[in-house]
Order: sequence, then C-alpha cells, then structure tokens
Amino acid sequence: MNNKQTEYWIVDKNQDHLNIHNEIKEAALWIKKGEVIAFPTETVYGLGGNALIDEAIEKIYIAKGRPSDNPLIVHIASKEQVGNLVSEIPILAEKLMDAFWPGPLTIILPSKNSVSTRVTANLQTIALRIPDHPVALALLEAADVPVAAPSANVSGKPSPTTAQHVNHDLNGKIKGIVDGGKTGVGVESTVVDCTETVPVILRPGGITKDQLEAVVGPVNVDPALFEEGNIPRSPGVKYTHYAPNAEMYLVNDYQRRMQTFVNQYRDEGKRVGILTTYEHVSDYDADLILPCGYREDLETVASHLYETLRCFDDHDVEIILAETFPKQGVGVAIMNRLEKAAGKKVL
Ligand code: AMP
Ligand code: MG
Repeated sequence: MNNKQTEYWIVDKNQDHLNIHNEIKEAALWIKKGEVIAFPTETVYGLGGNALIDEAIEKIYIAKGRPSDNPLIVHIASKEQVGNLVSEIPILAEKLMDAFWPGPLTIILPSKNSVSTRVTANLQTIALRIPDHPVALALLEAADVPVAAPSANVSGKPSPTTAQHVNHDLNGKIKGIVDGGKTGVGVESTVVDCTETVPVILRPGGITKDQLEAVVGPVNVDPALFEEGNIPRSPGVKYTHYAPNAEMYLVNDYQRRMQTFVNQYRDEGKRVGILTTYEHVSDYDADLILPCGYREDLETVASHLYETLRCFDDHDVEIILAETFPKQGVGVAIMNRLEKAAGKKVL
C-alpha cells in the first residue's frame, strides 16, 4: 500500500513551548482530522490516531498489519482527561498515576465506552498512559483528543526507537512522522490491570514490579507471562513480536556454551551472529558480533535492544544466538522481548 507521500517533520525536543511550533500544530491537526502520525515517546515511537474516530483506528491496524483483536493504548496529555474515558478510578490506580505519570506505565481501567470500539477491541476495559516525552506531550496537547498509539513498526518486527526505523517500516503507508530523535527507555510501557483489588502486571516493561509494589503494596503477575498454556489477559502478549529476519535462539549458560553452538552452526555452513553485551564482545568468534549495552547496567540493554535486533537484518546472518539476562528489574522486560523475538527457542 505504498500510495501516500509520508510527511516528515523534525522537531528539537529541547525547545520551549513545543505545542505552538508549526510542525507540532500541523501534525496534531492531521491526528485530530483522522490521519495517523508517528511520534516519539520515552519508550519507543508510537503510531497515533484519534481514538474517537473509527476510520483513524482502522488506518493504524492496516498500516501495521496488526491483528484486530489486539487493543491499543490510549495516550493522553493530562490526568484530567481520565474521567472522560473510564467509568471508575480506584484509589490504587490514582496512586499509580500520581507516582508514575508521565512515564512508562499503562493502566487498564473499566471503559466508559467513549472511544471507538476498534481501540479497545470490544473489551469492557481501556488502557491509558501519559508518555514522558516533550514532543509526545506537546502533540497530545495540541491535538486535544485522546490518541490511540501502538508502536510504529510493522507488526511482528522490533519496535522502532528512531524515526528512521519508522520510516523503514511505514514510509508511504502513513500520513507523517514527527522525528524527535532517539527514544530513551527502549522497551514498551509496563501494562498493569487495575480493575481488581490487587493490580496485575499483564506485560513487563519500563517500570518494574518492585517500583509498583513500593507505591501500592502487593502486585500480581499474569501467570500467562511465565507458564505455558494460560491464556494471556493482554491480547497482544500472545503474538510473536520483535523478531529479526534470521532464526534466533537464546543461549542459557552462554559463557560456557555459546562458542560451541556457533561452531556447530558454522560447520553446517551457516553464517552466525551473536547478540551480546560489551563485557563479552571479545569472548567470541562469529560472523557478526553485536553488543546491545552493558550487562552491568541493564537499562542500557533495554535502550538499545530493538535497534540491535534490527541491525542483524542489515547483515546476511542466518542464525542469531543471544545471551540471556537475569529476570530481575528491567531484565524481566528484556527477557520477555528476547523470548518473543526468538519465538521461545532456547538452547
Ligand atoms: P502495543 O500497542 O504494541 O505497545 O501493545 C499494547 C499492549 O497493551 C498489548 O499487549 C495489548 O494487548 C495491551 N492492551 C491494550 N488495551 C488492553 C486492555 N483493555 N486490556 C488488556 N490489555 C490491553
Ligand atoms: Mg508493539
């Protein structure tokens, strides 16, 4: 569907009063009118459409090739907008909003059904978040409507952390891209369901379980995230995601076993790439060795994970072997994304 000219606006996120900049005003007006526009958030680039217009939401699903039973997160500029979108705000949810908004936390609440049913995929709940990025906030303020926005990538591919990634996936398929530079956190928001007495994490992300528990006490984790056979409560969690073109495997006990697997695949005539960290780049011999951050500082790994996965696509390796990470703190989100990228294949 490469039939449209995609407009491209470059915005310096450090400028004051971004919402009165012509680029932001123009992009916001397109969103308001029902076109879809990609924009930076602190997690990854989002593909935004007016949550009140069915056709706008349809355009998001078509551009991404996203399965229609996978609901979208609604982005807002201020807490005052929450009351227009949900039928009830439990005290726990209010506490989480005060502690983590703007920020990488998505909160699921009972829907007031005031947005398009395409946004919530006919669920009785709605996912909300205020992003912590000056360009996103300026755009949301200027658009003055709730904006549904999934990640701005082709469904199944790694999420975009630069405008160039968005351009690679969606050029010609969307109205425009607001380029506000590289995103920071690098993995998507944590999704937490607040419709029950104890909040439940449906998708691990930028905010850790410990951080949530410090504010609201005990938090559960959807068992589907770590046990096979359970149906996930977040529809999107069941799909393969973030996958590079080459076949990918996670390697447990990588320090002892990685090189053996590399050698086996190379003996079969395959070109092998390794996804590693700066601490271990010089430990291996392979066709392509890409560090995605420092193991000692997992936030750097989260921040560069998707661009490193995309980088493998630019080289003709056939097998990617990835180191594993401790499932602690942001390591939970990193491992969740790696397991999906590898289609759960572990050596
Ligand atoms: P993405 O837009 O790709 O970052 O994905 C959004 C995630 O939030 C997906 O896993 C969705 O399934 C999930 N989500 C959105 N709305 C809801 C909802 N009302 N209930 C449960 N999960 C939701
Ligand atoms: Mg996504």
